[in-house]
Amino acid sequence: MNIAKMDNMTYQQITQSTNEVNIEMDLLQVGSEPVGMRCPHCHEEIMTRADYKNSSKTHLAALILGLLFWWLCCCILPYFLKRWKNVEHFCPNCRRFLGVYTRNKLF
Ligand SMILES: [Zn+2]
Repeated sequence: MNIAKMDNMTYQQITQSTNEVNIEMDLLQVGSEPVGMRCPHCHEEIMTRADYKNSSKTHLAALILGLLFWWLCCCILPYFLKRWKNVEHFCPNCRRFLGVYTRNKLF
């Protein structure tokens, strides 16, 4: 009885980790703009909701611009630009996190 229970739990853990791999593969498909896709959680055809988040590169860009153009007060500019921000995608239907697009280049 106990052994059967443990086997069942192990099977569930394997199934869960397999699902995580599938979701991670889906994460790679998102870009910087909202995309139409089938939500892996609620299986609805949705247009992702993109949230622009400040990344470490946003702060770095602000620091560099601040040092070079401090007299223009440019240091606050990157916070309003999408260019240096990570983009997190959420499902508008079930509000689950779908994936993140990370900036690779500063300029
Ligand atoms: Zn969903």
